[in-house]
This record gives sequence, structure tokens and C-alpha cells, in this order.
Amino acid sequence: MQNIRAHRRDEQIQQDNADVRVSMAHFRESQSQEVRDERNRQIRLEQRQARRYVVNTRRAIDQQRQQVHRAFTSDSHLRLAFQYEPDVQYHAHSKVDIGTMDKECPHCHALKFKNEPAGLCCASGKVQLPEIETPPQPLDGLLIGTDPDSSVFLKSII
Ligand SMILES: [Zn+2]
Repeated sequence: MQNIRAHRRDEQIQQDNADVRVSMAHFRESQSQEVRDERNRQIRLEQRQARRYVVNTRRAIDQQRQQVHRAFTSDSHLRLAFQYEPDVQYHAHSKVDIGTMDKECPHCHALKFKNEPAGLCCASGKVQLPEIETPPQPLDGLLIGTDPDSSVFLKSII
């Protein structure tokens, strides 16, 4: 019984599809050549406008990227953050990548970045600060960790 129902349903679906195909063929035949030409012309016009929109959009994006690239390669970074481009390697620029603090002053042994001027820390040895004195006990023990309360003290002073 189920097989008969399924078979009838398949026959009905096929008959419905055939009916739709026939009605579509009648509909297409009823359309005049002029109507079809007009519709095709309209479709071509819309496709052309869509292509033009895509081209103009890409052109505008390329122009903006070029502006950002020019601004980034020049020394001026004025308002550059408002034109952020994910493709630009900002981190590689020498103005952004300042390196590590590994340049040591020969006079005061302060660590500096590579582009910091020589006299920035101690004016090339002209300024000499006195050595820091060891603090009195129990403060010294608390600071260097020899006092049993040192860990509590160090956590509490931060
Ligand atoms: Zn120095």
C-alpha cells in the first residue's frame, strides 16, 4: 500500500513538473520579441552599472591605500591612525619599531634605546649621582628578602 502511495506521489510530482514546463513555454511564447529585447537590454544595463560600481569601489580603495602608503613612508604620521590599513606593515617602520633597551651608556651604565641621544641619561658623564646607600635594618632585609616577613612586605608595598 505504501509503495503504491509513493509511486502515485512520484507520478503526481512528475505530472506537476510537466505542467509547469508547459505553462512556462506558453508564457515565453506569449511574450513578444520586443518585450524580451527590452528585458535583456535592462539586464545588460544593470550588469554594466554593477560592474562600474565594483570598479569604482576598488579604485577608491586603491587610492586610499596609496595615500596611506605615502603617508606612512614619509616622516609625517599626522592622523595616520584614522586611515588604518590592515595590509600595511606598521610594526616594521623605524619610527614604530624602537628596538630593545639594550644600548648601555659607557658613563653611567644606563640602558637606552638605540635612537636615544648619548647625553640623555647623564649628559655624557657630566652628571654623577651619589651611590644609593643601603637602607637601615629591618628595611634592607625586607627589601632584599632575608627577613621572614619580606614576602608579605613586598606584596603590601605595591
Ligand atoms: Zn649615561
